[in-house]
Amino acid sequence: MAIKSSIFPCTGIVKPVASLKTVEKLMRYLRALSFIICILAFFTSCSAGRSPSYHGVQGSYEASSDVPASALKPLIILDAGHGGTDEGAKVNTFMEKKLTLTTSLLIKKHLEELGYRVIMTRSRDAYLPLQRRVSIANKTKGSLFVSVHFNSSPSTEAQGVEIFYFDSKEMWRARASKRLANCILHRIVDQTEAVSRGVKQGNFHVIRETDMPAVLVEGGFITNRDERAKLRDRAYLDRLAVGVAQGIDKYMKM
Ligand SMILES: [Zn+2]
Repeated sequence: MAIKSSIFPCTGIVKPVASLKTVEKLMRYLRALSFIICILAFFTSCSAGRSPSYHGVQGSYEASSDVPASALKPLIILDAGHGGTDEGAKVNTFMEKKLTLTTSLLIKKHLEELGYRVIMTRSRDAYLPLQRRVSIANKTKGSLFVSVHFNSSPSTEAQGVEIFYFDSKEMWRARASKRLANCILHRIVDQTEAVSRGVKQGNFHVIRETDMPAVLVEGGFITNRDERAKLRDRAYLDRLAVGVAQGIDKYMKM
């Protein structure tokens, strides 16, 4: 690009003077450059603002630290108990690991309808160590952690729903977890009319080692014939899932 120079008579400063044609070319060049910069800025901000997502057990989750937490919907961590070689409680071919996954997927759907983001520690039938479940929750900084299980007992009479929280030394977390457990239990009983066995303290790894309020839901006894029949019914499981989602929502709005 040709640029002429001239000397200012009063100052003696050398100042470049471009011809009109050159200035027009320069302006066109600058406009094109600013357009490209805008496009690049747009795509950069899109990727920075992307919501965290988790892709199955063997996948990886992505969480953006560039976006303030307040700008995002609350994140709930759902933990479908057992999986893979760990079948959990079992009566013939009726396995706890399948029931926890089906129920957790239904809870996820209802939570998303209520406007929450959800990360599942496992979204398929695979073994996942307890430590991995906890690290997913802690690394993604979920607002709450809910582990889904079903019960078994040598007594086939035992039935009902119970919810565990860990009596943490961190008083705020123990209190919050207990409150969450009560919210979920009441909503489950309202939805399913299941027997309430109450909110209890439990020293389970996943609710002890997580950083956020955490509960473990025991959604019914698969060793009780009547309750097992209900748990085989998808409509019943869906009411159970609605109860969990509504309980979480109630807690979050307290
Ligand atoms: Zn279990």
